[in-house]
Amino acid sequence: MYICAIMVSCKQESPADIRTLHRTGNSSSVPDAHHPTTEAPETVHRTVRLRLYPGDAATGILLTAIAGVCRHVWNHMLADQERRYRLWQAYRIGPKPVPTFFTLGRRFTQLRNDPDHAWLKDYPFACVRYSLKYLADAYQRYFKDPQTEGKPRFKARHFTVPAFTIPDAVKLDRDWLYVPKVGWLRLAGSNLYANCQPLTVRVRREGTEPNPKWYAYVTYAVPAAQVKQPAPDGALGLDRNVGQATDSEGTVYALPDTDPLDANLKRKQRALSRKQGWGPKDKRPKSNRGRRVNGQLQKLHRKRKRDDATHQASRTLADTAHTVVVEDLNTKGMTASAKGTREEPGTNVKAKAGLNRAILASGWGQLERKLAYKAGYVVKVDPAYTSQTCSRCGHVGKANRPSQAVFACQACGWALNADHNAAINILVRAGLPSVPVPARGTGAAARGGAIP
Ligand SMILES: [Zn+2]
Repeated sequence: MYICAIMVSCKQESPADIRTLHRTGNSSSVPDAHHPTTEAPETVHRTVRLRLYPGDAATGILLTAIAGVCRHVWNHMLADQERRYRLWQAYRIGPKPVPTFFTLGRRFTQLRNDPDHAWLKDYPFACVRYSLKYLADAYQRYFKDPQTEGKPRFKARHFTVPAFTIPDAVKLDRDWLYVPKVGWLRLAGSNLYANCQPLTVRVRREGTEPNPKWYAYVTYAVPAAQVKQPAPDGALGLDRNVGQATDSEGTVYALPDTDPLDANLKRKQRALSRKQGWGPKDKRPKSNRGRRVNGQLQKLHRKRKRDDATHQASRTLADTAHTVVVEDLNTKGMTASAKGTREEPGTNVKAKAGLNRAILASGWGQLERKLAYKAGYVVKVDPAYTSQTCSRCGHVGKANRPSQAVFACQACGWALNADHNAAINILVRAGLPSVPVPARGTGAAARGGAIP
């Protein structure tokens, strides 16, 4: 009875206490209620990537084995589901086999109790079973939209990143993470949300096969008040161009040149396809050299230059203004191929393909997604004629653009950078004043701007 009472009081006190503490502590820094999206939920989810040290090689092998069992169970259950479905289709006996997490989980428990699969009991139950959550989700996505999603597929060993999830009951004590059936492992790296409630952990192996590095992606429930807030007011228009974005104050956010990286990726892919067993239709056993090159290829894939740049740009924008106005771009339509049909072949196909690649490489979508959770409010406006309209007198004309970079109004003589002009138009289109409140943040960039 006594123990029971303690447990109940602990449960009530931990997450709620942190939340109220931060709400009262930070209430003054929360932006005003005039902006619609500042009514954030009480807690939000944030994920931190921390380095995980297995300590010795054997533990690393054990972690890889757990990930391998997850993959095995995925493949096993996928085959099992397909077989059940085919049988049901042929004979229509019994209910239709539905692949939900519940049914797959039940089948997994049966599998685990099967004497032939007794070895499954050496691996953490919850972690392995959770791989079926991903399988069930993959099936759900497929049922919802079979055209674009495609059926869940078998996971091949050499193309699957070894990873597993600790779905609940995460034990995290300062720099130590408890991995079930493995033990306490040390974590390293800066952690903004160390005081928050950890929800799930994804353990993932990165690096190359001879030199594996383990990481823990810890998802926390973070009190909304603790998350970095956007600037309290101000608005910016943002014109996204190939390779760069410009805001309505004229600041240019350059996106990285990924051509050398892309070339390296292509080279590695070619090298891999020449290795024994690694070509598209090569059925021979996979060679160790290919394994090494594949590791190098996966390493290149993890270089997130574009991701880093869009993170930095969206952070600066959110620190500068509460509202960010962007064009409502239809990237899919814009990057459609110019190939045409056999009867009516398109023109400039090569050039359009290059432009498409550049548009996709600019990370417009990424920037927008990151702004959505960092900025206070994101407005989308119609992009028509934003680049041909004068931001001072409103004159619209193709002649206003003597070159790609320069805007020169034919009616009033107003001249400035073309992207800057477009960004001002985008801001105005959202019904906001073109000369914004100087609401620069308090960071180094703002101080730099203040010095003439
Ligand atoms: Zn003008």
